[in-house]
Amino acid sequence: MAPVSQWEPPAAKLAASLAESTAAAPKSLLTVGERSEWKQTGRCTDSVAYARALEKASPWVKTVSLGKSPQGRDIIATIVSKDRAFTPEAARKSGKLIVLLESCIHPGEVDGKEAGEMLLRDVVVTKKYAAWLDQAILINIPIFNVDGHEIWSGYNRINQQGPNEMGFRATAQRLNLNRDFLKADAPEMKAWLRFFTAWLPDFFIDNHVTDGADFQYDITIDTPMNQDIWANLAAWTRDRYLPALNDAMATDGHVMGPYGGFRQRGRPESGFQTLGVTPRFSNGYLAAQNRLQDPQLGPLQHHEAVH
Ligand SMILES: [Zn+2]
Repeated sequence: MAPVSQWEPPAAKLAASLAESTAAAPKSLLTVGERSEWKQTGRCTDSVAYARALEKASPWVKTVSLGKSPQGRDIIATIVSKDRAFTPEAARKSGKLIVLLESCIHPGEVDGKEAGEMLLRDVVVTKKYAAWLDQAILINIPIFNVDGHEIWSGYNRINQQGPNEMGFRATAQRLNLNRDFLKADAPEMKAWLRFFTAWLPDFFIDNHVTDGADFQYDITIDTPMNQDIWANLAAWTRDRYLPALNDAMATDGHVMGPYGGFRQRGRPESGFQTLGVTPRFSNGYLAAQNRLQDPQLGPLQHHEAVH
């Protein structure tokens, strides 16, 4: 379609899947976002309480801590498994795909946090998507940057439509976790790398929100599909996975686009480009760690110790 501004795809405006999820949920399991009609977003303590409530509501759920932040907060992950395969060893034995969801690596970008919590509720409580667990184990990290999330203000994201107040981009030590996957300066990142290396997920979704760019897309996606991964995997992503995802989203009335930005900042007439991403970013790191590779190169090397 032709580009237009200040336009939202009707399906995004309607947000039917969110409304359905809310309507089907028990009142005690509504997120702060839902309870406030999306004017507010929950604090760290709300996400911990929510994870504990899901654990109580379903035998398929267990919440663990990846480790502590410099300010002493637990970075939690909620593991969802029909076989109660709550350890990496049990998960591998189950033979199921391991799918890792993450939000709030940049805590000003909160949308994925509550969407992830609602999604788990759809899987284990209302069971709309319970069949997924026949194939997969889900792991949800609602807030990766827990300290940054609690640097709380109404002015952290003035250029973004969102809740009245939200967290901050960097950590309490002013490190940007989504530049730290390789150098691993942040204690939070060291904890994350230990967790990731133990579980070695097959699929990873890292949720972000725009800083205020106005596209006709209601969601954009960036996933490795160039020289950064094995050519066969790149071809599968480019020629099969993304077209299928695009079609499914379009059928639901959404307009999905590639993640990118203007070639020259603030100048739309300069053109749009996608970005080459190095492994200091989440998507670049995932391209480099534990992906399928050319069998000619021999077996995958799983490194026990990280940094
Ligand atoms: Zn971000």
